[in-house]
Amino acid sequence: GDFPIETDTLVIGAGPGGYVAAIRAAQLGQKVTIVEKGSLGGVCLNVGCIPSKALISAGHRYVEAKESEDIGIKAENVTLDFSKVQAWKESVVKKLTSGVEGLLKGNKVEIVKGEAYFVDRNTVRIINENSAQTYKFKNAIIATGSRPIEIPSIKFSERVIDSTGALSLQEVPKKMVIIGGGVIGIELGTAYANFGTEIVIIEGDKEILPGFEKQMTALVKRALKKKGNVEIHTSALAKGVEETKDGVKVTFEAKGKEQVVEADYCLVTVGRKPNTDELGLEQVGVEIDEKGYIKIDKQCRTNISNIYAIGDIVPGPSLAHKASYEGKIAAEAISGKPSEIDYNGIPVIVFSEPELASVGYTEQQAKDEGIDIVAAKFPFAANGRALSLNATDGFVKLITRKEDGLVIGAQIAGVSASDMIAELGLAIEAGMTAEDIALTIHGHPTLGEIAMEAAELALGTPIHII
Ligand code: FAD
Repeated sequence: GDFPIETDTLVIGAGPGGYVAAIRAAQLGQKVTIVEKGSLGGVCLNVGCIPSKALISAGHRYVEAKESEDIGIKAENVTLDFSKVQAWKESVVKKLTSGVEGLLKGNKVEIVKGEAYFVDRNTVRIINENSAQTYKFKNAIIATGSRPIEIPSIKFSERVIDSTGALSLQEVPKKMVIIGGGVIGIELGTAYANFGTEIVIIEGDKEILPGFEKQMTALVKRALKKKGNVEIHTSALAKGVEETKDGVKVTFEAKGKEQVVEADYCLVTVGRKPNTDELGLEQVGVEIDEKGYIKIDKQCRTNISNIYAIGDIVPGPSLAHKASYEGKIAAEAISGKPSEIDYNGIPVIVFSEPELASVGYTEQQAKDEGIDIVAAKFPFAANGRALSLNATDGFVKLITRKEDGLVIGAQIAGVSASDMIAELGLAIEAGMTAEDIALTIHGHPTLGEIAMEAAELALGTPIHII
């Protein structure tokens, strides 16, 4: 038996949703406890966004070092020490996760190691290896994240790996099959292709990166094919994986034909599912939908009024910045603030080659909703900075409302699209028009000028295009 410990706000899960919620709640004067069964930083910092971006950038550098002859640089004997790449990646993760610990402590958030399980709407049991403790809370924020989906007929094993396995390989595989050409499959596939792995992508949809515009994904597809070691099968169905002595044999069907590929590894990236099944939610009556996502209102409140849910366990795209955004809203709502979710300005980014980024409406979505728009598309190839970076693939497409020029969306394909999209997200958030962007003096020569030019184009007065 143990005495319950009392807290104001109990946060379950210390990913980008939970830790941000905890900090904001503490800033607003709440006594906060955060429970984490794994590592601080969650999927994002430990086995998601950050390590994947580290591997992607190492892959880029390696390829650039080897392949810059077109701009007059020829390097010989460029070598790859993959274990050092991995060690560097780990050091980046470590810096960030220990940073999170420092931030939580600095904000006087109590950190508890263990797994939380609901007993009732004001109580959890927190269990770790050698003990259990009961906590009583006024409000709880659930931020338990998601995990990779396993295809029932293709079980994970030493050779059939998920994204976490792919991020921690100790050697560069000679060949890898990737089942699922979505964001994670394409990002990891690109990284390993750059390290020299022969990649075979099997995607069920008609195109890779389903959900993104074809204009954008076509650029990624072309760049992948140009590498020479990437094979893409779309409208293809993985049928089974057989483990061999030191690899896998993957059977799939494409174009009505059954094919078999042998490889060192099969990476399965077919989506993620919410961690809502082992939390005792049924003890409290928190409502979940048929896919396991928790239903929330505009303030991230579940049907149980003192329990909130954020991040990958609620509907919408699985993105770290969405989780953090919702975390702030939930913490503020608990403090009685009128904060509400507005997803309009949430960017979606793929760290592919070229990078893809989208915020707000696409042309198609605007048309579907009957909004009269102007879509102004300006190419990277007409920008001095893009040319001098030798990165001319791509465009900025600005979607404005025809009646008043209000910026309602933007899509960017191209180098640094991930950073450039922030300006257009700001424009949406602040209710700006194409004219506001056109009037903003952008430094020269910068990629930011492409957004300014797209705005000029929307107004019918572009300078650097006829
Ligand atoms: P998580 O980060 O999943 O954290 C949940 C935490 O809760 C975990 O630490 C878990 O251990 C803990 N937990 C679960 N159950 C319990 C329990 N009962 N008790 C205590 N603790 C518990 N997103 C982007 O925006 N940009 C990217 O570039 C990007 N890249 C990605 C790359 C990969 C390979 C992957 C897999 C994901 C990527 N994502 C990216 C998605 C991003 O990682 C997630 O959207 C984000 O981590 C979700 O945050 P969260 O706080 O909801 O949950």
